Amino acid sequence: MDNLLMYVDGKWKASLSGKTIEFLDPSDQQPLGTIPRGEKADVDTAVSAARKAFESELWRTIKPHERGYILTEMANKIRLNKDELANLETSDVGKPLSQAYSDVEAAARYFEFYAGAADKIMGETIPIEDGIIDFTVRDPIGVTAHIIPWNYPIQISSRSTAAAIATGNTVVLKTAEDTSLTALKLAEYFHETNLPKGVFNVITGLGHEAGAALSTHPDVNHITFTGSVATGKQIMKSAAENIVPVTLELGGKSPNIVFADCNEEAALNGVVRSIIQNAGQTCSAGSRLLIEANYKDRFLSLLKEKFKKVTIGPGKDDYDLGPILSKGQFDKVSSFIEKAWEEGEVITGGERVNVKGFEGGYYLQPTIIDQISHESDIAQQEIFGPVLSTFSFEDEQKAVELANGTDYGLVTGIWTENIGKAHRIVDKVLAGQLFINNYGAGGGIQMPFGGYKRSGFGREKGLIALKNYTQLKNVAIKYK
Ligand code: NAD
Repeated sequence: MDNLLMYVDGKWKASLSGKTIEFLDPSDQQPLGTIPRGEKADVDTAVSAARKAFESELWRTIKPHERGYILTEMANKIRLNKDELANLETSDVGKPLSQAYSDVEAAARYFEFYAGAADKIMGETIPIEDGIIDFTVRDPIGVTAHIIPWNYPIQISSRSTAAAIATGNTVVLKTAEDTSLTALKLAEYFHETNLPKGVFNVITGLGHEAGAALSTHPDVNHITFTGSVATGKQIMKSAAENIVPVTLELGGKSPNIVFADCNEEAALNGVVRSIIQNAGQTCSAGSRLLIEANYKDRFLSLLKEKFKKVTIGPGKDDYDLGPILSKGQFDKVSSFIEKAWEEGEVITGGERVNVKGFEGGYYLQPTIIDQISHESDIAQQEIFGPVLSTFSFEDEQKAVELANGTDYGLVTGIWTENIGKAHRIVDKVLAGQLFINNYGAGGGIQMPFGGYKRSGFGREKGLIALKNYTQLKNVAIKYK
C-alpha cells in the first residue's frame, strides 16, 4: 500500500486536514494506497506557490531554451523509468500493459515535442504605415490549472502541462481521485531537475472539493479541463465568473463509417481496436458503427467472430481487454446493456466475465448491440465501456446524417478505398479529428486534438496547443 503525498511548492505534503482517499487496483478491486484528500486550503497554497513562482525573477528571466532543456530531461527520465511507469499506470487504470507502455511513450513525446517548441514561441511583424514598426509578442498567461480524468492519466497530465511550461507558465495539476500514481511520478522527476519550486504543483482530491476549488480560484489565469460534459459545464461557469479562458476536452460518441468497398481486414481490426482500447473507456472510442446497408450482414458476422477472439484478463498480463475501472463505471455500462436487451439485440457479449484469481475485478465481454433506434440513449450517450452500437446507411448522405446525429463531434473513422468518397464525407462531418482507413494514426501527439459541438473546444496536442498558454501583446513603435 502506498500512502502518497501531494507536491506543492517543491515539497511533498499531506492534505492540511490530514484526510485521505483510498484508491483501488481495478484488476481485483483490492486497495492500492491512499492519496491526500486535498481541499480548498490546499488548493489555495498550491495556487499561491504557482503565482509566486510565476512572478519570480528566476522563472521570468529563464531563457526559453533552458525551459526546453528541463522538458527534455523529463522526456529522458520518463523513458528511463518506462517499466515502472507502465506498471503503475496498469495497476492504477487496469489497462493492458502494452497500452500503458504506449501511453508512457506518448508522455515522453509530449515533453520532447514541447521542449523543442520552447524557444520557438514567436510573434509577427505587421505592416502599418511608413515610420511605424508594429510587432506582436506572445506572453505566458500565468497560473494555469489542469484538471484531468482517470482514463489516460500520464498522457493527459503530460500533454497540457508540458505545453504550459514550455511557454513560461506555472502549473497546478489536479489528478482524478482514482488515478494519481503516474502524475505524482512526474512531480518526482521535475523535483530532480532545475525547475524552480512552485512551477509544477500536483493536488490530489475529489472533484467537488479540490477540483471545484481550483476551477473557481480567482488567481488562476487559464483552465485546461479534460473530462465529462457535465463537469465541463461547471468549469465553464466558474471560468465565466473569473473571465478566464478554458480549453475543454470532453466526451464523444464517435462513429466508424464502413463502406462495402473498404479494405475489409483493416476495417474490421480498426473497428475492434477503437472500441476495446482501454476497455472502451476512451473519449475517442469508436462506439458507433455505421455500415453500408448491403454490406451490413457480412461485416457484422465477421466482426462478431473478431469480438469472440478478444482475450480478457488483468492488464498486467496484457490481455486484449482489461477490467472496467470501478463498480460505479461497471454499473453504468451494465445499465446500457440491460436497456439494449429490452430495446434491441445484443448480438455478442454483454456478460460479466469471472477471471480466476481476479474475481473482484469488473471484466466485461466486448459487446455488439444491433436493432436499436439511433435516437435511443444507447446510441446517443457515452457508455464508456467496450460496447459498440451498429446502424446501417443506404447512401453517403445518410452516413453523414448518422455520423453527425449526436451532440458530440470528437472523432470519425472512414473506411473506403474510394478516396473521393472519403473526402466528400470529410467535408460534411462535424468532428475535430477524422481518420481515413485508420483510427488514431498511432496517437499522433503532433496532431491537433479536440472536439466540435459538445465534445468541447480549443485544441490540445501539436503546436496549436501552445496558443492556449500564451496571450498576444501588440507593440507599435513610431520612429519617424
Ligand atoms: P469527470 O468529469 O467526472 O472528472 C474529470 C476531472 O474533473 C476529475 O479530476 C474530477 O475530480 C474533476 N471534477 C469533477 N467534478 C468537478 C467539479 N465540480 N469541479 C472541478 N473539477 C471536477 O470525468 P471522468 O469520469 O474522470 O472522465 C471521463 C470523461 O472524460 C469522459 O466523458 C471522457 O470522454 C472524457 N475524456 C475526454 C478526453 C478528451 O481529450 N476529449 C480524454 C479523456 C477523457
